[in-house]
Amino acid sequence: MNTQNLPVLEEIWQTTLGWQPDEIQQKKFQQLYEEILVGNRQLNLTRITEPDEFWDKHLWDSLAGLSGLGIANELEKQQKISAIDIGTGAGFPGVPIAIAFPFWQVILLDSTRKKISFLSSLATKLDLNNIQNIVGRAEEIGQNSLHRETYDLAFIRAVGDVSVCAEYTLPLLKIGGLAILYRGHWSDRDNLSLQSAANKLGGNIERVIELITPLSKSIRHCIYLRKILPTPSPFPRAVGIPAQKPL
Ligand code: SAH
Repeated sequence: MNTQNLPVLEEIWQTTLGWQPDEIQQKKFQQLYEEILVGNRQLNLTRITEPDEFWDKHLWDSLAGLSGLGIANELEKQQKISAIDIGTGAGFPGVPIAIAFPFWQVILLDSTRKKISFLSSLATKLDLNNIQNIVGRAEEIGQNSLHRETYDLAFIRAVGDVSVCAEYTLPLLKIGGLAILYRGHWSDRDNLSLQSAANKLGGNIERVIELITPLSKSIRHCIYLRKILPTPSPFPRAVGIPAQKPL
């Protein structure tokens, strides 16, 4: 297969996020791109396959979600953070985050077994030993004592409505933990529904950041939800209910 090279764009990484991949990380980004193109032949992993677009909408976007934390600061601390990516699909934002933060433990959760099998073999090929994969539904994992209230960070991109995202993420966080919702456009109405759902789940909207992707100039919003109180035990509700009857 004639795979193209991803752009490197060190300067853009540096000016936008105050961080840039080292040589090993750059190589892993390239391998990730190649593995996804191969996997795409069998699985419906992503429609974003052009090198520039992949860099912009998958790699940069995944890491830009952490800009509210300060990527460079987080890397300096070298803390062992435990993070979960809910509905990770082809591994976004979880895999680029695991590559950028080798000290973090990143759990990739998806309900589709085939996607998780793909990610598990990808993690081996890329030598990413800080990744663990789980096949399951957010509604079940959130009620499982091995996972409930155990994570420092929870990411969620392109999985559902804002209040569904709150119900999937908040139960999994420790008190003081942070959910990061990756969104496109963001309205006052979104803000109101999210705040109302978050109130029921022990969360609070701490910050909303607007971002523009560097190459395609697409609009993005990152919503930071802080867990301030324990999530009441009925949440998350049974499989399918959060999406059918959003809070
Ligand atoms: N986060 C990825 C994929 C988004 S597609 C990205 O942004 O590219 C949504 C993914 O969420 C699908 O792979 C689907 O299987 C998974 N998903 C949907 N509902 C889920 C649930 N309740 N629990 C776990 N995974 C779920």
